Amino acid sequence: MTGVKHQKWWGWGVEGIAFTHDDKPRMAPFVMEKIGIDLNRPGTPPPAFDDLEVPASRMGDDLGGKLRDALGEQYVDTGDLNRVVHTYGKGLVDLVRVRAGDLPRVPDVVVYPGDEDQVRQVVDAVVAADGVVIPFGGGSNISGSLTPQPAEHRVVVSLDLGRLNRVLEVDEAAGLARIQAGGLGPDLEDQLNARGWTMGHQPDSFKHSTLGGWIATRSSGMQSDKYGDIADITRGLRVVLPGKVIALRPLPSTSSGPSVREMILGSEGRLGVITEAWVNVHRVPENREIIAYLYPTWAAAIAAMHEISESDAAPTVTRVSDANETAFSLAMQKPSKGLAAKAGPILFNVLERRGWDLSAACLSYIGYEGEASHLKYQKGLVGKIVKKHGGIKLGKGPGALYDQKKFDTPYIRDFLLDIGALGDVSETAAPWSKLMNLYANTIRAANDAYDELGVKGFAMCHLSHSYHSGACLYFTFAFPPSTDVPAEQIEQYWVVKKAIQQSFIDNEATISHHHGVGTDHAYWLEDDISPAGTDVMVGLLKSVDPGRNLNPGTLL
Ligand code: FAD
Repeated sequence: MTGVKHQKWWGWGVEGIAFTHDDKPRMAPFVMEKIGIDLNRPGTPPPAFDDLEVPASRMGDDLGGKLRDALGEQYVDTGDLNRVVHTYGKGLVDLVRVRAGDLPRVPDVVVYPGDEDQVRQVVDAVVAADGVVIPFGGGSNISGSLTPQPAEHRVVVSLDLGRLNRVLEVDEAAGLARIQAGGLGPDLEDQLNARGWTMGHQPDSFKHSTLGGWIATRSSGMQSDKYGDIADITRGLRVVLPGKVIALRPLPSTSSGPSVREMILGSEGRLGVITEAWVNVHRVPENREIIAYLYPTWAAAIAAMHEISESDAAPTVTRVSDANETAFSLAMQKPSKGLAAKAGPILFNVLERRGWDLSAACLSYIGYEGEASHLKYQKGLVGKIVKKHGGIKLGKGPGALYDQKKFDTPYIRDFLLDIGALGDVSETAAPWSKLMNLYANTIRAANDAYDELGVKGFAMCHLSHSYHSGACLYFTFAFPPSTDVPAEQIEQYWVVKKAIQQSFIDNEATISHHHGVGTDHAYWLEDDISPAGTDVMVGLLKSVDPGRNLNPGTLL
């Protein structure tokens, strides 16, 4: 036993937790209307693990002996289950492939170093043996960034950082914490909260992703408007390279040439193994509230979000769903009881009488933190902007519900797969001036792709993470493929995913705001950063890793 917790080999999260629509009476009719699938039809659960054919480990005795000497027998695992857990991330393609037992290449061994010195010993031993090292955090990426290349003939070692999960020190005077890279979100926050501090980084994958993974993929959490993206939060780093360690002190800012810190951010295991980082931390706020608002149209909602970002209000969360996602959220609600059961219909009646087309309404959540007087001031400012754009305040109730349920939503994708529907996401960022066209053209591109496939699909979007010059748009798409054959399902998936990603490029947006490049988005990297930009990146990767021993295949 290594003491490291892992997700299910076949899906999101941990065994024993699953999505159900039994307590959501409006969901089945909604899904039937949008993608023509009956949620009550019998599903096909994932196969039993014993039905998979797992290729044998190719690790030789020589390297195996060195790894065991360095880490101890217990922390060098060639067992089939663990190797499969470390083969894929949690993208839609990963899930379809693993459930189909499609395992052309799995890591030959999973190792669990207990400190940086052991990470160095592993990296040096594997590189000396001309093997491949793939750092593994929570395995939650959805960009295909840790799967061994199918044709990789060298020994593949998955280096799991799970034992490096401690907050090492807090510099209270500076608001900085030194944290090991393998800690999962809740573990790290619990340790920080116990000392009165928080990092404030809360991606939807928070429960199953790690600090090192966040840094290596340039993650962003839902409270990024206040706390920043992980690229802002990360100040200092230690990174193990073959034969050496990069050590970057935590500096508030520096002008010491092109930023090596920035080179490590988003490096997806291609530039070494991050063992620890100094991150910005903040005092746990006195109050925390998420308030829901409703806008009559998407255009009004986006204009309001832009104005909020320019105002003196400094919310932690700025999020608004388009009409489709709003309808989906309402369909996911459990029935209300008591007064609340009456309040919804009454409100919708009033809005209709005021001339609202409710099918165009857009639900928004704005988060606030701080002292009571600060919250009151901010809410006042936001309230005026909401009103100016024709919106109304719904109150704390729906916001609190969203806050509690946000980490459960990811389980829905496995449930959809069981009943034969594919669902996934693509996210991007663009300047405010481009957002409306980007949105309209991307929804159109998804719908055109569904038409091309002859399937009934659904696409929805929300804005999250506002910046001075623009914002992140996050698209979710789902459709029932017209085939049961996994490889053909993946082909159909790519028709839709490619249409959406190409639309990002065509509309002057980036290929990913926070999921990284991986193998899934690599095709568009040159469009994103220009051919000369990729030349620079290739040069950097080659100089650090001439033998392509560090997670080759992802990024470039
Ligand atoms: P892994 O998946 O284990 O690894 C990702 C990449 O980082 C790999 O290339 C790996 O080799 C490398 N890596 C991992 N650890 C290290 C290390 N210590 N040193 C060097 N390289 C390393 N992302 C967001 O940003 N925001 C979200 O809100 C969000 N929501 C999600 C919701 C769901 C349901 C899912 C499935 C994913 C979501 N993601 C989100 C994507 C994913 O959680 C992030 O990409 C996350 O940062 C990955 O962290 P991880 O620890 O799981 O990394």
